[in-house]
Amino acid sequence: MYIDPHIHMVSRTTDDYARMAQAGCVAITEPAFWAGFDRSSPAGFYDYFRQLTESEPRRAADFGIKHYAWICINPKEAEDPGFAREVMQLIPEFLDKPNVLGVGEIGLNKNSKNELAIFEEQVAIADQYNQLILIHTPHLEDKLKGTKLIMDAIKRNTNIDPGRVLIDHVEEHTAKLVLDEGFWCGMTLYPDTKCTPQRATDIIEMYGSERIWINSAGDWGCSDPLAVPKCRVEMKRRGHSRETIEKISFGNPQRFLGQCEKFTP
Ligand SMILES: [Zn+2]
Repeated sequence: MYIDPHIHMVSRTTDDYARMAQAGCVAITEPAFWAGFDRSSPAGFYDYFRQLTESEPRRAADFGIKHYAWICINPKEAEDPGFAREVMQLIPEFLDKPNVLGVGEIGLNKNSKNELAIFEEQVAIADQYNQLILIHTPHLEDKLKGTKLIMDAIKRNTNIDPGRVLIDHVEEHTAKLVLDEGFWCGMTLYPDTKCTPQRATDIIEMYGSERIWINSAGDWGCSDPLAVPKCRVEMKRRGHSRETIEKISFGNPQRFLGQCEKFTP
């Protein structure tokens, strides 16, 4: 059994659900993000949030997979603060839905001033409604700077417990930084870009298996909805114990997500 704690099923086919179930997937969580195109109105987000809280849970249930979601305006579409704030007004209504675990994936994309302002406002929403937080970090050369900006911004809100925040898309040069500050971290497994199953296994060998998970982030681009079981195979091939493999791909997600009582995989 495994959990894929970050995958964008709105972009995936029903066949993907079938293959994931066959590979042992029992639960997934789907953060709100860019869906491959910019939405033209807050109403577009309203419909997307309904898809995340109504139709995807039904589609997943057909294959015995529990579907959970996170709600927010993503950093890629948060460059216009007026637009972003209109979308943010929709968030509280959806935080009450039975499959919503928290606010996410918020964060930074290009490390811009506007993105940072909207990020901080959404951290404040998470604080106000006592929600878990899932964070997207920028890619490539922006990652280290963006990760530091994000951690500093969270620490400015002293109500936020880092143990209730997961910072995703960590790589070799950011994992330790995130863990040392008490946050959880996620490794996104992508076939070419980002972290491969091999690199993720290297990172576990370097920094251990505490407060860390793996996910496929399967989305609208080149990605692999079976990346989590493939990483389990890679860890097994290298001689990791069954306990460690289960911890990374089931126990740790269960521990972090279980801080929200709605999560019962
Ligand atoms: Zn994502």
